[in-house]
Amino acid sequence: MIGTPALAGINPEDLPEVQAIVDAMKRGEKEEARLTYRNSHRQNGEIWLESTMQVTRKDNGRIDGVVAISRDVTEHKKLETRLETLAIEDSLTGLANRRRFDERLKEEWARAYRDRSSLALLMIDVDHFKAYNDEYGHPAGDACLRRIAKIIAAETQRAGDLAARYGGEEFAVLLPNIDAASCAGVGERIRSAIHEAGLVHRTNLAAGCVTASIGGATCRPVLERTAGVASLVEAADRALYAAKDAGRDRLVMSGEVASVMLKASGQ
Ligand code: GH3
Ligand code: MG
Ligand code: MG
Repeated sequence: MIGTPALAGINPEDLPEVQAIVDAMKRGEKEEARLTYRNSHRQNGEIWLESTMQVTRKDNGRIDGVVAISRDVTEHKKLETRLETLAIEDSLTGLANRRRFDERLKEEWARAYRDRSSLALLMIDVDHFKAYNDEYGHPAGDACLRRIAKIIAAETQRAGDLAARYGGEEFAVLLPNIDAASCAGVGERIRSAIHEAGLVHRTNLAAGCVTASIGGATCRPVLERTAGVASLVEAADRALYAAKDAGRDRLVMSGEVASVMLKASGQ
C-alpha cells in the first residue's frame, strides 16, 4: 500500500463522509471515530469495512496522523440486508407484506393530508379459493397465488403504487394521488387480467377459471375530519363484500355499494 493514498479504494459514494471525518480528526476536532463504508478488494470486487480510527500525536502533543483498524463486515451487511427484505416482503409472492402495507398506508395518508391530495385503495380477494385448494391441493393453491401476485404487480407499476399481500388469498393495492375513476380503471384491469389468465378452477362454476372480487375506495384525508386510515380500509372492504354478494368476479367502488347491495337483494 506504500505510495497509495489511504482512502484510495473507498467507494465514491461513501468517500465524502469518510474524508470529512478524517479531515476533522486531523484538525483536532475529533479524537476517534467508527465508520462503515464500501472499499474495493483485489479479489472480491467490493467489501464492507468497519473501521475504528484514532488520532495519533507526536511527543509534543501535535497531531501527526490517523490510524485505522478495519474489519471486513461484508457477511454481516448481507445478513442485515436480507433481514430488512424479510421484514417487508411476503415470502410466498414477493409482494410487500402486511406490515409494510400498514406502514406505507400511514405514510401515504399523512402525505396526502399534507398535499391535500387523494389516496385510493383496492382490496382484492380470490373467489372460492378454499374450493381451489380442495380441488387441486395446497401447493397448487400457492402457485396460483404467485401467479395472481405477478398479475397485480404488472398492473401497478406507477411510482408510488404499492401492491401487497394483505393476508391469505387477499391482496391490497395502494394508489396515491388518483381519483375514483382512475382507481376503478386499475381495479378493472386487474380483475380482467386475472380472469383472462384462464387459470383453470372447475369448482368456480360461473367462470370455470380463477377469478377475484375487488373493492375500491378513494378518499381525501384532509376532508376526513375524524376518520383515520382505518376508514379507507373499511370502505374498500365493504365494497369488496358487495362485489362478493353481487356475484363475484367484479369490481365495486365504495360509492356504488348501496346500489349494488340493493340490486343483489333483488329490490
Ligand atoms: P370467497 O369467494 O367468499 O372469498 O371464498 P373463499 O373460499 O376464497 O374464502 P375463504 O375465506 O372461505 O377461504 C380462503 C381460503 O384461502 C382458505 C385458505 O385455505 C386459502 N388460503 C389462504 N392462504 C393461503 C395460502 O397461503 N396458500 C394456499 N394454498 N391457500 C391459502
Ligand atoms: Mg378472503
Ligand atoms: Mg376468497
